[in-house]
Amino acid sequence: MRYISTRGSAPALGFEDVLLTGLAPDGGLYVPESLPRFSVEEIRSWRGLSYSELAFRVMHPFVEDAVPADDFRSMLDETYAVFTHGAVAPLVQLDSNEWVMELFRGPTLAFKDFALQLLGRLLDYVLEKRQQHVVIMGATSGDTGSAAIEGCRRCQHVDIFILHPHQRVSEVQRRQMTTVAGDNIHNLAIKGNFDDCQRMVKASFNDQSFLGGKTRLAAVNSINWARIMAQIVYYFHASLALGGPDRSLSFSVPTGNFGDIFAGYLARQMGLPINQLVIATNRNDILHRFMSGNRYEQHKLEHTLSPSMDIMVSSNFERLLFDLHGRDGQAVKDLLENASQGPVSIADYRWKHARQLFDSEAVDDEATCAMIREIYQQNEYLLDPHTAIGVKAARDCRRDPQVPMVTLGTAHPAKFPDAIERAGLSVRPELPRHMADLFEQEERFTVLDDDIGAVQSFIAEHWKHG
Ligand SMILES: *Cc1c(COP(=O)(O)O)cnc(C)c1O
Repeated sequence: MRYISTRGSAPALGFEDVLLTGLAPDGGLYVPESLPRFSVEEIRSWRGLSYSELAFRVMHPFVEDAVPADDFRSMLDETYAVFTHGAVAPLVQLDSNEWVMELFRGPTLAFKDFALQLLGRLLDYVLEKRQQHVVIMGATSGDTGSAAIEGCRRCQHVDIFILHPHQRVSEVQRRQMTTVAGDNIHNLAIKGNFDDCQRMVKASFNDQSFLGGKTRLAAVNSINWARIMAQIVYYFHASLALGGPDRSLSFSVPTGNFGDIFAGYLARQMGLPINQLVIATNRNDILHRFMSGNRYEQHKLEHTLSPSMDIMVSSNFERLLFDLHGRDGQAVKDLLENASQGPVSIADYRWKHARQLFDSEAVDDEATCAMIREIYQQNEYLLDPHTAIGVKAARDCRRDPQVPMVTLGTAHPAKFPDAIERAGLSVRPELPRHMADLFEQEERFTVLDDDIGAVQSFIAEHWKHG
């Protein structure tokens, strides 16, 4: 399998190099040159497989040049063994033909564990083979940082430096990052905001000379193809659990960077019968505005009760734009260069095609709280604010009540107790047992000024030197 850039001019790469790279040199994102396609018979034959064996069937075509089948199988067994539910991604029924797929049974209680637990293992495997080392540098406002740290804690060939804005992430989220022990794990609390952190990470990727040529940076944000790939699997899992592929399913996906829902789009391209894919956003609704009015335009960032979806632009949307433009990289490049100057539109027939592929809705904080309340009152089931947005959009956008509707449950409610309180519920969602002592554990982090020189020298001094 070869991977090509969405902006058309970077050379094609194999899986190993795509795994170790961030953006393509032409500024684009990597996508597979072609997708594997599974027949209905083949998908049907996967009924009853364990989650990790299903993951093997779905993902092996993407990695086979880099990872032999046996090694990949054991990697997947290890990855999904750490999830605390036997089904890995259990389905909970809310109403007739309405479900939540709980993707928060991994070590950090958010769906990002599905990809980042695997990514850490894949990186270490490839780096061991090549006898190389990388430094992961990332900025986080919450979930990504803890899932990335957890995914890399046992890596021999990776040092990870996660920047978070000092005193501006929730205590649960900070402790999930800072209580993980390991001499390759480095938490940097930056005296600035999330954008300051992100700016330093971007600048460091652009000029890596501070590392003295002895190691290089790798990316773990959702522009990394391996993350998208791992998320395709659970769409197949839900379908097989609910009568697929002989029956079609719909999905509603709480969306920020368009990574998770793009994986659903790929599952459909690979042969899975999917009826509707609903893009559910909070008030940071650039995607909903595009879907409803063919205007792609950046607005100011709004802080909401669903912080993991607080974005101004959706980086992975570029991967869809590439397909909508018949995989013409130059057209995508022109469009996105214009988009950085002001609002853009795409040709009407392309936009109509996008609307056939996706439905969308934006949900504000008030409606989020109302949904949390409603589901708790009806089902005694607590939704986290991100998942609540998904359920609300699922109900409003649903076209055919005969088709099962599955909302992706992206986080455990205990990660966002304030939203539950704002919803007026007096229940306090409890952390699962394996995290019950989170507030007693020792924290490790270094506070640094909002100064790129200070951050880069810290990294240069503290990575393991191979
Ligand atoms: C990251 C995240 C999202 C958004 O996922 P994207 O792939 O960026 O669309 C939604 N919910 C939660 C809880 C998250 O952590």
